Amino acid sequence: MRTDLHRHLTRPLTSVRNLGILAHVDAGKTTVTERILYLTGTTHKRGEVHDGTTVTDFDPQERDRGITIFAAAVSCGWDGHRINLIDTPGHVDFADEVERSLRVLDGAIAVFDAVAGVEPQSESVWRQADRYGVPRIAFVNKMDRAGADLDAAVDSIRRLHPSPLVVQMPIGAEAGFTGVVDLLRMRSLVWADGLDTAEEGPVPDALREEALRRRRLLEEAVAELHPLALEEFCAESALGEQTLTRALRDLTRTGDGLVVLCGSAYRNRGIEPLLDAVVAWLPSPLDVPAVRGTADGSEQERAADPAAPFAALAFKVQAGATGRLTYLRVYSGTLRKGETVMDAGARRTERVARILRVRADRHAELELAVAGDIVAVVGPKAARTGSTLCAPGAPLVLEPPTVAEPVVSVA
Ligand code: GDP
Repeated sequence: MRTDLHRHLTRPLTSVRNLGILAHVDAGKTTVTERILYLTGTTHKRGEVHDGTTVTDFDPQERDRGITIFAAAVSCGWDGHRINLIDTPGHVDFADEVERSLRVLDGAIAVFDAVAGVEPQSESVWRQADRYGVPRIAFVNKMDRAGADLDAAVDSIRRLHPSPLVVQMPIGAEAGFTGVVDLLRMRSLVWADGLDTAEEGPVPDALREEALRRRRLLEEAVAELHPLALEEFCAESALGEQTLTRALRDLTRTGDGLVVLCGSAYRNRGIEPLLDAVVAWLPSPLDVPAVRGTADGSEQERAADPAAPFAALAFKVQAGATGRLTYLRVYSGTLRKGETVMDAGARRTERVARILRVRADRHAELELAVAGDIVAVVGPKAARTGSTLCAPGAPLVLEPPTVAEPVVSVA
């Protein structure tokens, strides 16, 4: 039975991405988030229209959906995957909150401004993400702005990462930025005005030579970093799409390479390939190391296994129309609706009355939540940000409670 449960519940976890968006204030984090929610929320709608595309309508009501970006985590779907988008405060003044959100996510998109490139604040958030070993991909946003320059932005990114791997080439510049060449598939993606879905086609003749040059640079950079890619490169003097894709996934997960994409969130250009990149290259909860915590004074490890004892970190408590919502990253075990859990730090038990998946347009009620997932629960009254909720029989503290330092008088 346990094995069946395990098999049933762990399989979909490979298609979960717990994702954060890291950015300097003003780089476009809000706009990128809004566009992701819009695109992922309309995928089902898109299927209903006959030509396969819909006109993006940013009317005030549609934009109101952006309100949900203030939720601590919102779930959306893309290409058969569930993306839990976790809010990461962009301001260094919220260092604690930034660190806690970095802790609960498995991967992130780092957003940069195509004109300003890396700024001091992007650097500090980047270093925090380094400390937590968060795999990242980079998105150079605002390609439509006057002065936007992908190559210059990538050069500034070298201050943060020695091996940026640029997988796209812009088509057009500034106000004329209309799309990208996907250097892996050597196809062009162009967004016509008013359409939210790219039109795919061959690389335009005028861009072919430059695209091939950039593809070659990408292959060389990847071969230098990845042993298998190097082998193929030496044998064939080139890298195939499959090897490149696999190598980019490995390099993203180890942090040895940084995939760079570009676009304009404001004009809804480049967001679909960005979502494809999240799904292709960033890790699932099963691809990241087991969480560590303390139990009875000794350190313990808990794997992302639905059959293990339940343990979850409360990373945000928010008041909402639904009541007091406690956002949880479930690290191990399975939580069922109606169950009693223990707040491990406070040694207090609490009942979980409801489990919710927070979405842009509605909250879905869940019967259970399993290791690797991010959900909001209603019921716990005393749990605070940073509390560990766990199975009463298997206490584990994931994060030491923040206690004020005792005042020590020095003689
Ligand atoms: P945040 O502070 O990182 O959340 O940034 P916002 O998403 O609020 O964006 C900051 C400003 O940049 C806003 O005025 C946006 O409209 C604008 N912006 C965001 N994305 C783009 C883009 O792709 N192109 C241009 N030209 N402006 C953008």
